[in-house]
Amino acid sequence: MIRLHCKAQTYHWGKTGLDTLVGKAYLASVPSLPESAELYEAADQEHYAELWIGDHPSGPAEILVNHEDAQMASIIADEGFLKHYHHKDIEISHLFKLNPARFLGHKYIEHFGTKNPKLQNSMAFLFKLLAVEKALSIQAHPHKSLAEQLHKEHPEIYKDDNHKPEIAIALGDDFMALFGFLSPEKLALNFKQNKALSEVFGYTESTVIDADFLKGCVKHMFYELDKDLENLQGITTVLQHEITATPEGDRSPHQSLFLTLLSQYGPQDIGLIFSFFFNIFNLKKDEAVVITPNEPHAYIRGDLVECMANSDNVVRGGLTPKLKDKETLYHMLPDDTLTVERAPVKGVPLFESAGGSSVVEYKTGFEEFRVIKVQASKGDQGVTIRYNTFSMVIVIGGKGSVEFKEYGMFTIEAYQAYYVMPEQEFAVKAESEEPLVMFIANCDI
Ligand SMILES: [Zn+2]
Repeated sequence: MIRLHCKAQTYHWGKTGLDTLVGKAYLASVPSLPESAELYEAADQEHYAELWIGDHPSGPAEILVNHEDAQMASIIADEGFLKHYHHKDIEISHLFKLNPARFLGHKYIEHFGTKNPKLQNSMAFLFKLLAVEKALSIQAHPHKSLAEQLHKEHPEIYKDDNHKPEIAIALGDDFMALFGFLSPEKLALNFKQNKALSEVFGYTESTVIDADFLKGCVKHMFYELDKDLENLQGITTVLQHEITATPEGDRSPHQSLFLTLLSQYGPQDIGLIFSFFFNIFNLKKDEAVVITPNEPHAYIRGDLVECMANSDNVVRGGLTPKLKDKETLYHMLPDDTLTVERAPVKGVPLFESAGGSSVVEYKTGFEEFRVIKVQASKGDQGVTIRYNTFSMVIVIGGKGSVEFKEYGMFTIEAYQAYYVMPEQEFAVKAESEEPLVMFIANCDI
């Protein structure tokens, strides 16, 4: 395995400071700490939203090449390469280009490389840590052919020609997400509880809530309400008064969320109204959501592990200062699943030892990526695993060791990220009193 130096993305919605999930991972990842107190202080003011563990050009992970490191030398196994890049931080993609089969995996090249020439020497997925302080934009990710079209027409906005299904796994019990539309019964309840909302969309007792009605509502929001921000503010202000007139303990989760979003994005964001149409999920630790193409969603708060097809294509519709592409989002809405309620997913336990070590797999239904959670307890046998394709690893708790027959033993610790070679068996053991917890991302082939 090789230690990675990963990029942190400092988006406005991220948690503030170095003492946050992504802040800590970023600090563990940089080759050296900020030199002066001032630099450290400035770094401590940033919003640490995402850590990117992959080769995406907008935030590629790097490795520090060291010719004198015997383990690294035997992994890279190319004297000229090691000498040329000695003591240099280089993008991980250099390895994939140097020897694709060795560093991505024979099966990977056979499977993905033949379908997509780009994947002959690059990663099919992007692995991330997210720390959400403030709601992310309401968004959807285009399916493959729409992504190709958007990329061709607006390459400056849609930087990738790839789809971007994703999985998000909660690291704590406070992960909140908007995901999928409400069932007709629950949406009807929102209309009944919020008079101003009923009036805006012409909802009455006799209204039938079906896919056509929902599309009509979205159209009304995007094509009319969001075009007249003063009128929109009038509506959100009436809603606010209606909600605050209700005692706090009697407010619905949607009403409480409305007030939170109002405080974060102000009264002129269409996302405030849109939020009433979504299911609110409060996920517990280790629960996950899988977002399929074209499905609107927004993460509201929490720390999470996220993995997706290697793309950064986001079509935004609200809760954002960034460009909103409402027309595209409207046309992306999936007709068939609009009124089907979505559910969170759980990982499948693959191994459990009496001593407290375990392996849990999160399949996504997409061959480009899956996530595996590995936990090991001190004094226990640990776990032994092997994968066809290369893996990306992030440790989120404890300290331990990873041993390979061919390359020997490596020490791993919390908040550090690693690249692991394909087709190698490795044994994970804990050395700390607290359990060693790591997440592994690789391809599901
Ligand atoms: Zn997303």
